[in-house]
Amino acid sequence: MNDSGNNIKQYYSSCLYKNALGSDETKTPAVTILVADDEKLMRESVQELLSLYNLNCLLAEDGQEALDILAQQPVDILLLDLIMPKVDGFQVMKEVRTKYPDTDIIITSGEATFKNATLAMRHGVKDFLHKPYIPSELVKVINNLLEKQALQHQVDEMTRCIQVSEERYRFFVNNSPDMVYMLDKDGHFIFVNERATELLGYEHDEFIGRHYSEFIHKEDVEKAHFAFSTSLSNLDIAQKIEFKMKAKYEGTEPCCFESRSIAVKLNASEIPDRNSNNNHVGIYGVARDVTEQKRLDELIYFQLYHDALTNLPNRILFRDRINFAITQANRSARKVAIMFLDMDRFKIVNDSLGHIAGDKLLQKISKRLLTCIRDSDTLARVGGDEFNLMLPDIRNREDVINLINKITLMLEQPFNIEGNDVYVTFSIGTALYPDDGTSSETLIKHADMAMYNIKGKGKNGHEFFSDHMQLLLQQHLSIENGIRLAIQEDQFEVYFQPQYNTKLEIISGVEALIRWNHPEKGLVSPNDFIPLAEETGLINDIGEWMLDASCKILQNWIKHHSVLSNITLAVNISASQISTSHFVDFVLSTLKKYNLKPEHLELEITENTLMKDMDLVVGKLKQLSNHGVRFAVDDFGMGYSSLSYLQTLPLNNLKIDRSFISTIQSVNDKNSIITAIVAMAKELGMNIVAEGVENEVQINYVKSIGCPTVQGYWYGRPMPAEQLQVIALQQLNELNYA
Ligand code: C2E
Ligand code: CA
Ligand code: CA
Repeated sequence: MNDSGNNIKQYYSSCLYKNALGSDETKTPAVTILVADDEKLMRESVQELLSLYNLNCLLAEDGQEALDILAQQPVDILLLDLIMPKVDGFQVMKEVRTKYPDTDIIITSGEATFKNATLAMRHGVKDFLHKPYIPSELVKVINNLLEKQALQHQVDEMTRCIQVSEERYRFFVNNSPDMVYMLDKDGHFIFVNERATELLGYEHDEFIGRHYSEFIHKEDVEKAHFAFSTSLSNLDIAQKIEFKMKAKYEGTEPCCFESRSIAVKLNASEIPDRNSNNNHVGIYGVARDVTEQKRLDELIYFQLYHDALTNLPNRILFRDRINFAITQANRSARKVAIMFLDMDRFKIVNDSLGHIAGDKLLQKISKRLLTCIRDSDTLARVGGDEFNLMLPDIRNREDVINLINKITLMLEQPFNIEGNDVYVTFSIGTALYPDDGTSSETLIKHADMAMYNIKGKGKNGHEFFSDHMQLLLQQHLSIENGIRLAIQEDQFEVYFQPQYNTKLEIISGVEALIRWNHPEKGLVSPNDFIPLAEETGLINDIGEWMLDASCKILQNWIKHHSVLSNITLAVNISASQISTSHFVDFVLSTLKKYNLKPEHLELEITENTLMKDMDLVVGKLKQLSNHGVRFAVDDFGMGYSSLSYLQTLPLNNLKIDRSFISTIQSVNDKNSIITAIVAMAKELGMNIVAEGVENEVQINYVKSIGCPTVQGYWYGRPMPAEQLQVIALQQLNELNYA
């Protein structure tokens, strides 16, 4: 009896220890046993017996008392007599079954009929002891029951743990930002998480049993098949595959899934078959919604290849499109037209209406240009007011001309910008593939050249590229490079042309004229390189070199022959030189460097330069004039200068352009323009120089109208410094001698 009693304690405590997590091993588990029996002796003997095993024993003398105790505290085992006064064992059983399901009942009864036993079993009674029983029997029964209870506890605890873990798992799966799914081995969904239903708008049940391909965009189905078959062998590849999934309401309802397709990145593994090593029973995996990422990628891509103001393709994308069109054209034996469109006088719009208005105009123009072209054509913005247009797949030049006509017609309507009507014209150049080039670079360059040609001819028009332009460009390039080299290698030289005092018939001044001693071409005329030097900005270097070199020569003349100190040195100055920030300082420091008086120097500026940037020119000229530097208006009569403006400038000399002199045929000619110019100059208090006097008729004419200074072949051609020095010395010495 002792043995089995110990068993009870040991077993029960070990079970509790194992299952009650966190419970203290040393703590004796409290087992409460309620004995309900109307026989006092019976109750007390059981209590005595059980107290030996440290089991807490409560006593009730009838059914009612038993129920009262049960209502007050939990009871593990109820030893229940069936026949009791007032409330009997059957009634207690019923109530315990419904109210106290954790209390196990052992019937102890003398009435061991079959009927009683089955009734008791039906009420879930755990055991039946026939009175009288021997104590060891009771202990054994209790022992068994506690053992079962402990096991049940263990099972309950395990079930609870599983439930907790299952809930946790479910929480993670359903709250995952990714779609979690399982497919059977034929590709049908057997599980999806809530995220999948949220993302795609289908109910959970709409997924289950359907094949994955039903949820994938038509164009991506192949890719998905590949991904799922590959995932079984190569997870790395599968993970890199992206495809679009169809949302339920796509394109039909403007709800949150409106035309939405979801790009997903896949991560799949196979579900192994527990019964076989090599087989799998399906696939489980995670699909990540990368729609937002894709949208960002697309945005970045768009910004990289488009112009922010007009949303048109930019230079990079345009080149790419040309390359593509060239490949296509090779197959179809058609042509591709590359057009360069440069807006005329955009600067005026920008300067007069402001940059915001300028931007608006560009936006409106690009929209209108788009209406003139086909979907397959590409219009790109490649610079401030520069557009490129590509027409793939054209037959001939006619096709281009038709489009030009369309554009011209479209531009006849003004653009309304902030209440102003703005009329726009374009200078357009076109190069054709394959006629005018085979690479995108060459084609764009040639279209640009053709456009440039139109600009030179007075803007607003169209021209196709021609080989002649190419030749011109090559010549320009070689001259430009030649000039750079000439500066480095000192190939320039100063020539001097005398200016004569017509009354005294002696040299009063010289004009310094540049010559290029080209190693192959010999002496090159400035007419052949000065315009290009002005275009490229190289004129600044050339001009500074000329001023320095000619001042140096003059210093040398004066140093050795004081008579030459009466000679004025005229030097040509270009517009771009005046706009350099150090122009005034450079002139003054050069004079200082060669110890020359400012009165020695006369700067020749063409009429057009004077008119170009009036405010800037006036200021700088006045500064230099205040120091004593003289100024001459060069090529007068060729431009459109306003007299009132010229009056405000510190000018000393007016040089009548050669073209007027060349018209003089006889002394009796009454050339009204020359006469008017001379009269005007006198009024302004300026000296006159007649340029390009070549013959006797002309010299007599200019003398007859009282022109005091003449420069021309009649007196002398431009010549090297030494030669001029000899002539000047001879004349001046003769004069002094006389
Ligand atoms: P320009 O300033 O009008 O110079 C006068 C040009 O007329 C010189 O041509 C000269 O040789 C030429 N000439 C003078 N008398 C006669 C004549 O009786 N008959 C004819 N047919 N021509 C005559 P060049 O030296 O060839 O210079 C041409 C132009 O090159 C100059 O015209 C000037 O605009 C420019 N140039 C020359 N040197 C320089 C320079 O150092 N700087 C700048 N910016 N331009 C220069
Ligand atoms: Ca000149
Ligand atoms: Ca001139």
